[in-house]
Amino acid sequence: MSLYENIEIIRERVNKAAIKANRDPIDIKLLAVTKTRSIETIEEALSNNIEFIGENKVQEAEDKIPLLEGKFKEFHFIGHLQSNKISKLMKLKPTLIHSIDKYSTANKLNNYLKQNLLTQDVLIEVNTSDEVNKFGIHPDETVKLIKAISQLENIKVKGLMTISMFTHNEKIIRGSFIKLGKLFNEIKVAEIPDVEMKYLSMGMTNDFEIAIEEGANIIRLGTAIFGARNY
Ligand SMILES: *Cc1c(COP(=O)(O)O)cnc(C)c1O
Repeated sequence: MSLYENIEIIRERVNKAAIKANRDPIDIKLLAVTKTRSIETIEEALSNNIEFIGENKVQEAEDKIPLLEGKFKEFHFIGHLQSNKISKLMKLKPTLIHSIDKYSTANKLNNYLKQNLLTQDVLIEVNTSDEVNKFGIHPDETVKLIKAISQLENIKVKGLMTISMFTHNEKIIRGSFIKLGKLFNEIKVAEIPDVEMKYLSMGMTNDFEIAIEEGANIIRLGTAIFGARNY
């Protein structure tokens, strides 16, 4: 199938899931995850109604994002951020970093931002599936981390992100998303100064409809748009 058709099918599925959940599909941002994809492929997606692109490795983003300048609306960084890559990433001007899970990284990012008179919107990545080998702050530690990061003047916390467990068990996946949605609402009502719970980034190719039903307003899709990845 063509990229155009894939994207049309996804939009249709997003609409259906949103309507089922009594939500307006307009509120759901489709982030095309372009890792491993060529410039030509990404350009084709961008000319077929894709506006937001996400990369998960700083090096790869550095190679590709400058070549796509002016063709996308927003670039989001969705991967694990090593503190020695902060300045490289910031030169690419990400609209949103989805994946802050440690105070030390946030603090280093804030130092860079201060020196360069910049601010940066970030999401906090939460590990909602109790997997040991994964990134993300534990749900019970999330409020504490957000309060600490909220003190860093040049970083704006704008919401939460999670990756659900890799499983076909729908109950487990939904459980992850319910957990993140609850945390999102708890933090919202807590009204922590300088923290805005605006974005709930959850849902990938295998689970985005469940994520939409549980409140996601950014979904991150790679395979559904571009097909299987060849590493
Ligand atoms: C690769 C990736 C995705 C997209 O995964 P698909 O299953 O291909 O849709 C989403 N989020 C993150 C953080 C990723 O690394």
